[in-house]
Amino acid sequence: MDTSKEYVKKLDDEDPLSKYRDEFYIPEDTVYLNGNSLGLLSERAEDSIEKIKEEWKELAIEGWTEGETPWFFMAETLGEMISDMVGAKPKEVVGTGTTTVNIHALVSTFFEPKDGKDKIMADELNFPTDIYALKGLLELKDLDPKKKLKLVPSSDGHLLDEDKIVEMMTDDVALVHLPSVLYRSGQLLDMEYLTEKAHEREIIIGFDCSHSVGVIPHELHEWGVDYAMWCGYKYLNGGPGSTAFLYLNERHFDKEPKLKGWFGYEKEKQFDLALDFVHEKSAGGWQISSPSILGGAPLLGSLKIIKEAGLKEIREKSKDINDYFMGLVEEVLDERSYDVGIISPEKAEERSSHIAIQHEKAEAISSLLREKGFITDFRPPNVIRLAFSPLYNSYYEAWLTVMTIKEIIDNKEHQRYEKQEELVT
Ligand SMILES: *Cc1c(COP(=O)(O)O)cnc(C)c1O
Repeated sequence: MDTSKEYVKKLDDEDPLSKYRDEFYIPEDTVYLNGNSLGLLSERAEDSIEKIKEEWKELAIEGWTEGETPWFFMAETLGEMISDMVGAKPKEVVGTGTTTVNIHALVSTFFEPKDGKDKIMADELNFPTDIYALKGLLELKDLDPKKKLKLVPSSDGHLLDEDKIVEMMTDDVALVHLPSVLYRSGQLLDMEYLTEKAHEREIIIGFDCSHSVGVIPHELHEWGVDYAMWCGYKYLNGGPGSTAFLYLNERHFDKEPKLKGWFGYEKEKQFDLALDFVHEKSAGGWQISSPSILGGAPLLGSLKIIKEAGLKEIREKSKDINDYFMGLVEEVLDERSYDVGIISPEKAEERSSHIAIQHEKAEAISSLLREKGFITDFRPPNVIRLAFSPLYNSYYEAWLTVMTIKEIIDNKEHQRYEKQEELVT
């Protein structure tokens, strides 16, 4: 493999997405590798925020009907905008609430325990908030989470074996809730296969797609996934705490939402203000409150960039830049002398857009990287996650990161770093 600086410059020159980098605000003198936690602000998102601000200023309450995107339809508009990125019909997606609230709104509808089929299955590497929500739901139903929540184990603490997941889909399981991508290792699960297997066993299956939407194409409708949700602030670059999304397959539109609220009411009749609840027969029926217009504003701009760039192209670059980075790690930081290991799956089709590496002194390395302007994140005890967000990260940044880690280890900075810390404490 060519590890030269000349070669990496050529990769950037040939990158059809490189032009989008200029649209983003990259903090000065930084290599930002945290787009899987908080995507960056773009000029287009800034413009759409500004637009909503002006509408509030000039239209006040009229904004609900007179805004360029009438606020009353903001949730549905966002849902339509994103629907083709996740392979859903426009009415199957709505931009609403926040991720954890959407988990509650969906699992409370879909978990219908019956005698002998009253367990929820998730996995032990799942994001904590998802597990908390599942436990809370079981408690609401007077079911003991210790007995009724089955967690698929991981054999190495990083990856899940899909066949093991299927093996655990036994008759007592009513609902399976999994991430599309494991937030630590970046492993992408085969949602199509898992959905097929769950349905063969008459089990409802849903995915938390927070780490895959915006960077990986999905076919939620075609795969028959029952429900899904994802946040707006990772690869969608919608800003901190921005509006999240929820999807449910159209065959479930007649189901009764269990976390009811007036914005889920039949759209045409919401302002009749009747006391009986009749939900809209679309994903919109699962809304609870007034949409956060300020939380959705940035997405109106940021989603346009993704649409324009093309999800297929985004995925291609994501795979390619990650392959390049992993190749460099193996070549430049070969495991024996540098002890840097990669815990993300080897095959590009099996991972999302971040790579997790491990090193005994990962915390020190991550802190030193930060001092040098590289924003990565450390996950105890020994993992560093580095995300390459295809719209604004360059191949050169991947190269520079590996070379900087090499320098840190060559100069034994990571060993001194710990000693310094000991002096302080
Ligand atoms: C980021 C993320 C969340 C975030 O939940 P919020 O309610 O938005 O704070 C939830 N689940 C997964 C899998 C995530 O990656």
